[in-house]
Amino acid sequence: LWITLEGGDGSGKTTQAALLDEWLRAQGLQTLRTREPGGSEVGVLIRDIVLHHRGDIAPRAEALLYAADRAHHVATVVDPALDRGEVVIQDRYLDSSVAYQGAGRVLDPAEVRSLSLWATGGALPDLTILLDLDSAAARRRLDSADKPFDRLEAEQGEFHVRVRAAFLALAAAEPERFLVIDAAQDPAVIAEMVRARVAPLLD
Ligand code: C5P
Ligand code: MG
Repeated sequence: LWITLEGGDGSGKTTQAALLDEWLRAQGLQTLRTREPGGSEVGVLIRDIVLHHRGDIAPRAEALLYAADRAHHVATVVDPALDRGEVVIQDRYLDSSVAYQGAGRVLDPAEVRSLSLWATGGALPDLTILLDLDSAAARRRLDSADKPFDRLEAEQGEFHVRVRAAFLALAAAEPERFLVIDAAQDPAVIAEMVRARVAPLLD
């Protein structure tokens, strides 16, 4: 079982991934928590490039770097874990690329999606949880939290408006893969909604 979490910076993906992991392990399941970019040793190097040069990488080069990270991550981390029967809980996947490298950087979202599917041989998760939060609320959260690195990573204004709209469009296009949750709610309430959606997938 492969579950990805998507949403803007500050939407609570990492918190929900941890809560879901805890719940699954309490039921005796083996899990693997991972993320993109940076879910493999090679990926850590790519993450360093894309995050420390954001804004000054040509958009197509950025898209290729994220695709390279994804290709290696799926081949060497995600697929082996799925083969071992583990539940993979992953912070960000191809929907992030369609939203950030596509809509955010104003490349063609369909092309970015194709690139990503080529990179992974067409691998798609069983479930994608989209934590939807408007960019003003996300910014308030990042500013109030003591998260200097996230502040450095975060970008401003219109970029986030495009990213959010792209995520919602992706969810609307594939309603059976996505669970969209209003991320302004209490984390415990969100975790319960996630469990309700995941429980039937464990049978
Ligand atoms: O989710 P995480 O905090 O690890 O993401 C690091 C940064 O990389 C975020 O600010 C996010 O906006 C950016 N990112 C991106 N394109 C992706 C994935 C992440 O621009 N496909
Ligand atoms: Mg995070």
